[in-house]
Amino acid sequence: MFNWLFGGGVDNPKPLSKINRKRCSITHQAIPSGTYPGLRNSSGVHCFLNSTIQSLASLTSLESFLGELLNESDKVDIYLPLSEALWDVIQTLNTPSRAVHTNTAIIDAFSLSDTNNNNTSLMSPSKRALSLIQSGQQDAQEMFQCISSLLAHEEGLIKAAKCKVRGLDTLTSSDNTTYTTSFPLAGLTASRLADLRCGYVEAIRNIAFDALSLNLPMQTSCTVEQLLGEYTAIETIEDASCRRCSLEATLARLRQDVKQLMPADPNKGSTSRRKRIKEASKQERRLSTLLSEEGDLQEDARLKDIKVDKSGGGSTKQILIARPPRILGLHINRSAYLGNGMAVKNPCKILFGDTLDITAYTTTGALETAPRKPISSPSKEMIERLTSTGTIPSRVLYTLKSIVVHYGSHHSGHYVTYRKSRSDDDDEWLRTSDSSVQIVSLADVLQQNPFMIFYERAVDKKKSENNTPNAQILSTYSLHD
Ligand SMILES: [Zn+2]
Repeated sequence: MFNWLFGGGVDNPKPLSKINRKRCSITHQAIPSGTYPGLRNSSGVHCFLNSTIQSLASLTSLESFLGELLNESDKVDIYLPLSEALWDVIQTLNTPSRAVHTNTAIIDAFSLSDTNNNNTSLMSPSKRALSLIQSGQQDAQEMFQCISSLLAHEEGLIKAAKCKVRGLDTLTSSDNTTYTTSFPLAGLTASRLADLRCGYVEAIRNIAFDALSLNLPMQTSCTVEQLLGEYTAIETIEDASCRRCSLEATLARLRQDVKQLMPADPNKGSTSRRKRIKEASKQERRLSTLLSEEGDLQEDARLKDIKVDKSGGGSTKQILIARPPRILGLHINRSAYLGNGMAVKNPCKILFGDTLDITAYTTTGALETAPRKPISSPSKEMIERLTSTGTIPSRVLYTLKSIVVHYGSHHSGHYVTYRKSRSDDDDEWLRTSDSSVQIVSLADVLQQNPFMIFYERAVDKKKSENNTPNAQILSTYSLHD
């Protein structure tokens, strides 16, 4: 069921030269090579917004996505405030110049976005973003989530409009306008809950994510791989109830009820008592049939009037990445709570590299349902064996694009971004702190202690050109930009 998720399916972004969008107006005089624009921090509390924007500006597949989305929006005549503002600012920030840009267009886009859903009491992402800015609550991760939700919403508007157009045109047009781009930040996890007593596996659930939030241990340092290992580890939940065990316990209780209610002489007993016996027997029969079948134990109509008892032998829970996104955002959760409930910042040093292999944290295609076994990560032995022969199965490899670093305490401080520049020089990275932008090296970046990390999927050039399946040589992987 998940074979399409492993290794394959990376869209190759179209070259940007095909996108003919108007660049935002900023005067480029004699362009000093290696000098890039910063973002003004007019109110003094915008560093969390500026660092988020700078970090998104490093992501080439996000830029391609926005370009294609805006081309589509022109065709269906729908204005997408945030996509347009972000595309413009990404262009500007990647064009060498001594100018300092502003984040005003992005803030205006939040005001112009109307994502209010009347059916929910939750604040819309645009309102939440504005409230973060106005209240000075500086949280780059929340800002990222607001932006991500809004972009996904804007993509949804275009998809809906294209569906409508196609619906009208199906008879007349040879449809070559199908919009296929998908949001590059969107990934899926698979989560499984299995009971240790009876082995029953609750339906494996897929949950969408735009960044993984990783918990940090209270120790001096740890690697990103360790955090991902912890995120995807099998966890035992002692007091979890199991649906099958609960229904079995309920069945036993109903049988007991019938037995106790039954009078010694079947011809005696009150009418109400006989009615209770009849009801309990009916429920018992229905439940017994349901349990003998292989069907869904959650929502069966036959359970409607049965009060279900809770029972279970403890469960195991595991989450794995089922569909790796093109852009993998990692949020390092640095909040730690003291005994008195006070929140402090966990300073644990994160060790990370400029490449990341997440193959071991993904589902492979054959989902394991035995409660004590991992869902389906490839074994270390298998990977080693295949690597030693020169071929390995499709790996899920990423390349570092940007990190957001937070200085200061849990309640106050300053955000800066380290990001890849668009220069041909592989070692040219930028340290952006609001209006100040400095050239740094990869070695400088890797010494930092990040709060958020953005990796972009490495595309296997050979595979995308020749469409060769499965086994690949590791060295053929390279970046798509
Ligand atoms: Zn069970």
